[in-house]
Amino acid sequence: MMLVSHLVFGAVAGAVVAHFHISPLWLSMPLAMGGALLPDIDHPKSALGSRVRPVSTLIAKVFGHRGLTHSLLAVLGLSWLLLHLSGHKIASSTLAPLLAGYLSHLLADGLTPMGVPLFWPVRVPVRFPLTVRTGSAAEKLLTLAVVVGSCWWLGPHY
Ligand SMILES: [Zn+2]
Repeated sequence: MMLVSHLVFGAVAGAVVAHFHISPLWLSMPLAMGGALLPDIDHPKSALGSRVRPVSTLIAKVFGHRGLTHSLLAVLGLSWLLLHLSGHKIASSTLAPLLAGYLSHLLADGLTPMGVPLFWPVRVPVRFPLTVRTGSAAEKLLTLAVVVGSCWWLGPHY
């Protein structure tokens, strides 16, 4: 998926977290959008990967693109890391949108023909039956539909 699609999916994930009163919208949306960029740290040319190139290059060489960082194991690892780095003081209002954004990235990439290795190290790709190619008109239409659908569902609540 393209960067803008991941940002849109992340924003929607943040709005959903805010909808359930776990985190205020002003905090939830940017955190979820940031979380939605994290999995592509395994690609040196991605928005995040290009900013931390030594790290992204290393991750790409060891695990490949859409490897470990696109799995549920990474979600658990990120949770564990954030909890331990914060001395278990990270608020759910911070952790929940970050993880929701991260999961939104896995969901979005699961909508592409390549899928995601959700159960990595088992490298069986998980993908939806209906997929869209990255950068295609179908992806742009899907992203627009997500925006319209989330505004229709969540809009009246804000
Ligand atoms: Zn990705």
